[in-house]
Amino acid sequence: MCPGSFDPITSGHLDIVERALSLFDRLVIGVADDVGKESLFSLETRVALVRGAVADKAEVTVDSFSGLLVEFARRHGATVIVKGLRAVSDFEHEWQMAQFNRRLGPEVETVFIMASHQYTFLSSSLVKEIAAYGGDIEGLVPIQVEKELSQLYGRQKS
Ligand code: ADP
Repeated sequence: MCPGSFDPITSGHLDIVERALSLFDRLVIGVADDVGKESLFSLETRVALVRGAVADKAEVTVDSFSGLLVEFARRHGATVIVKGLRAVSDFEHEWQMAQFNRRLGPEVETVFIMASHQYTFLSSSLVKEIAAYGGDIEGLVPIQVEKELSQLYGRQKS
């Protein structure tokens, strides 16, 4: 399972999804309801954008969750949590989460996939910031996300 806030889904997330599919036959993308911060997009929109981005992948299921990740994993029968690691700055938080999740659900293993070099700088928050200032985000997010952000911030896609 690939958990995250996906506010919104980016090409970096999709890269991790695709690479996870080379390791596992089935993947559940878990969109977190309570993201611990104000989200730009509603849970429904975040889920819809993720669904749209993986519509061509029959092995992928998208679901939302709130509460403990290990409980969500159990509900789906998932035994592996897949996370992307971009830089050392991701490490401390991810390390802490992995330790906690192991304590809460020892049967669920956390696996880290290194971000592809062209996406190491990419985050949902950076995408939102660039879009808000009218910058070009082509290629950094799926086309539907690009359209949503353009609509939100009034940048017309030509
Ligand atoms: P963010 O950290 O951008 O707010 P999420 O909370 O949705 O994104 O993160 C979900 C997962 O996706 C995390 O494991 C995060 O490290 C990973 N991730 C996010 N952006 C990238 C990227 N550009 N490359 C690889 N992994 C990423």
